[in-house]
Amino acid sequence: MKTETIALLSPAPGTQQTLQVQRYGTSGASPKVYIQGALHADEVPAILVTQQLARRFAELESQGAIEGEIVLVPCANPIGLAQHNLGQHQGRFDLRDGGNFNRGFAHLADLVKDSLRAQLGPSSTDNTQVIRSALRAAAQALHANNTVQDLKNTLLQLAVDADIVLDLHCDTDAVMHVYALTPQAEMAEQLGAALGAQAVLLATESGGTPFDEACSRPWLVLQELFPEFPVELACFGATVELRGEADTSHVLAKKDALALCDFLSSQGVLRHSSAIPSPLCSATPLAGSEPITAPHAGVVVFHCTPGDVVVAGDLIADLVDAATGAITPLVCKSGGVLYGRCGQRWAQPGKRLAKIAGTSLARTGKLLSP
Ligand SMILES: [Zn+2]
Repeated sequence: MKTETIALLSPAPGTQQTLQVQRYGTSGASPKVYIQGALHADEVPAILVTQQLARRFAELESQGAIEGEIVLVPCANPIGLAQHNLGQHQGRFDLRDGGNFNRGFAHLADLVKDSLRAQLGPSSTDNTQVIRSALRAAAQALHANNTVQDLKNTLLQLAVDADIVLDLHCDTDAVMHVYALTPQAEMAEQLGAALGAQAVLLATESGGTPFDEACSRPWLVLQELFPEFPVELACFGATVELRGEADTSHVLAKKDALALCDFLSSQGVLRHSSAIPSPLCSATPLAGSEPITAPHAGVVVFHCTPGDVVVAGDLIADLVDAATGAITPLVCKSGGVLYGRCGQRWAQPGKRLAKIAGTSLARTGKLLSP
C-alpha cells in the first residue's frame, strides 16, 4: 500500500488541509477502482467502512489477490469534518456559501467533446482509451479558486479514469440503498445484492452533478453525442447509502466492507472467494421515489420505519398542529419500500419527512434532496 497526502488550496496563511489517498495493487494497472468515504462529512458510518476496507485491501494485497489498482480515500472531506455551527457538526453543506459538498462537480463531457470528435474511430476499446485520457487531461486542467472547489477537483482527478467508482454515504435514518445510472442497472443490482440493499434507485441524470455521476455520466453523454462511434459506458459509478447517520457499528462496518469486496470480486478486481446473495429488491426509477412532504408546520409522529413495505394510501405519519392539536394524516400515493426518513420531529412546511421507492410516479427536475 502506498499513501499519498495531497495539500488542498490554503484559504489563509497558517491554514492547510490535506487529503489522504491510499493505493493498493499495481499503480496504473487495470481495472482501476476508486472508493471514497464521507464526502458528506457527517455521514460517518462510511468512515468505519473505509477503515475496514483498508484492512481487507492490505491483507489481499499481501496475498497478491488484487487485480489492477484500488484507490481509497477514507475521509473524502477534511473541510466538512472540521465544520461546526452552534454546537452541531455540519458536514453536508459548505458553511462558507451553503453549497452541498456532493453537488457541482465539473461536467467533463462538455470539456472534451469537441476535441474527441476527430479522435474517435470504429473500435470501442480504442475509443475507451482515447476518452479516458481526454477525461484525465480535462480533470487535471480544472482550476479552483477556493478550497472546496479544489477538493472537488482533486477527488475527480483521482477517480475519473476508474472502471468502478463507489462513493460511500449514508442517509439520516434509512435502510441500505444505492443510486446509479439507469443503463448500468445490472451492475447496480449486483452491488445492491452484495450489500443487502432494500432500494436501488436509477436515473439517467439525478441533477446537480453529484460525484458518482461526474465520473460515470460523461460516458453516457458522449455515447449520445457520437452515435456514429461505439462508446462503452466504461465507468460504473454508484452512491452507496450505508443506512442512517446513527448506524455506527463495528459489526455492520465489517459486514459492509466484506460485501463491497464480494462485489469487487464479482467484477474481477479481487481474487477472493465470494458469493453474492440473492437481491432483496429490484431496481426502481429515482423519478418514482415519492417524497412524503409536510404540508404545514407540525410535530411529526411516524407510523412507518425504514424498511417497511407500504401500499398506496398507507398512513406514513401524522403531522400535529402545534397551536390546535389538529392531526393531518400523511399517506403515500405509491407503494414500495420506505427507505429513508428524516431525523428531526419538528417539520416546517415543505420539509421532506420520508422517501418511498415507488414505481408509479414520474418526477422531473432535480431528483435528489438539496
Ligand atoms: Zn451523502
